[in-house]
Amino acid sequence: MHRSRKAKIVATLGPASSSKEMIKALFKAGADVFRFNFSHGSHTDHQLRCNIVREIEAELGRPIAILADLQGPKLRVGQFSAGRVILTAGQDFILDSDSTPGDANRVCLPHPELFAVITAGQALLLDDGKLRLQVMDSDAHSIRTRVINGGALSDRKGVNVPDAVLPIPALTEKDKRDLAFALDMGADWIALSFVQRPEDVAEAKALVAGRAGVLAKLEKPAALDRLEEIVAASDAIMVARGDLGVELPPERVPGVQKRILRVCRSHGKPIVIATQMLESMIAAPVPTRAEASDVASAIYDGADAVMLSAESASGAYPVAAVEIMDRIISEVERDPLYKNMVAAQHEAPQNNKGDAICAALRSVTQIVGAVATVTYTTSGHTSLRAARERPMAPILSITPTMNTARRLALVWGVHSSVSDVVSNEDILVATACRTAWQEGLAQVGEQIAITAGVPFGQPGSTNLLRIAEIWPQH
Ligand code: PGA
Ligand code: MN
Repeated sequence: MHRSRKAKIVATLGPASSSKEMIKALFKAGADVFRFNFSHGSHTDHQLRCNIVREIEAELGRPIAILADLQGPKLRVGQFSAGRVILTAGQDFILDSDSTPGDANRVCLPHPELFAVITAGQALLLDDGKLRLQVMDSDAHSIRTRVINGGALSDRKGVNVPDAVLPIPALTEKDKRDLAFALDMGADWIALSFVQRPEDVAEAKALVAGRAGVLAKLEKPAALDRLEEIVAASDAIMVARGDLGVELPPERVPGVQKRILRVCRSHGKPIVIATQMLESMIAAPVPTRAEASDVASAIYDGADAVMLSAESASGAYPVAAVEIMDRIISEVERDPLYKNMVAAQHEAPQNNKGDAICAALRSVTQIVGAVATVTYTTSGHTSLRAARERPMAPILSITPTMNTARRLALVWGVHSSVSDVVSNEDILVATACRTAWQEGLAQVGEQIAITAGVPFGQPGSTNLLRIAEIWPQH
């Protein structure tokens, strides 16, 4: 089976999507990547879902990517003796290091490293930004604030500190345990939450040691100050609009999303647009017009993938949400305006053999009307560079390693097939033709454009471009 669209769908699994029947239905409806959210659920829950995804993958014969999303240093207040308090605009409220349960005047902030970096005038946002506090003064053990926007505050609600670069590691102790577990489980991508600096990505990469791709979630304003470096350090990026939209005023999120998209497209790094894409479908079988427009805009702007969170993890209509995304993406990709926009956003190739070949692959495909482009790749690098060119024909990525095939499920236009290393150029062309035909990407008499590296099987050696016609004996 192959999908006819280029952009991909990431669907988060959760309580509403844990049965084999449901996960299979989500895959068939169009989910290419399953996200496992390590902020929720036990290791046993994740392992069971992983086993199911791998069973479905074997039954349907298509590589599926698993993205393990680590919670990261999410800050939370402590507990209240009454479970919940009401804060009123204008009152004072103290956050301190005293672990006794809080009341309407104070609560514990169990993150001692914060007290040193918080200064007067900064804002603290509570419960996804619903409450806003302004810092009046602080010392080594407490922060005195004035309530700007009041409301109910209950146990362990989240705290965002948009104005500060926090001296906290990108990976907490929980993240390290979850990371080791996710790698053992065989996750293809590791997502890092609240990345602030390129060093955060480097630290995770050292632990991951090539066993998975590392995706940086951009949800802190501090990350935007070092955007180019973070994109360069990461294997993929997510615009995590949930927390980003708490830390930034909402009107700044669309522009930031477009800026991140441009940087990722220029680096050729896969980019996922996430959060609230079809939010109303948590409870309704159809999206709002604004949501449909949001998904479509991300695709017109050149995103590799769009993501569902609660819509597929805990909503009432997980399959319908994937189906709608699939339909919106397909509709955009049929639009001649989309093709023009993709062409207008085209990024110049960099000065190396691989990019030169991939640029040629794109123009050859267009000139001879090839119905598929074929990339032979070991690490996935060539397929990523081919995707950066955004050719109008699908990219059939032939790789000897299942891990590479799975990882590329996140990438725009890439359809992977696992095949043994080929030993010479004739076999290479014949295998490409046969695979394109078998996968339904090319018919007898049609042309395909093929890239590979000689000598074979050596990463980074892409230097060959062939045009071939599908013959009946293929
Ligand atoms: P989360 O990340 O769902 O893990 O918080 C996504 C976001 O913040 O948008
Ligand atoms: Mn987040």
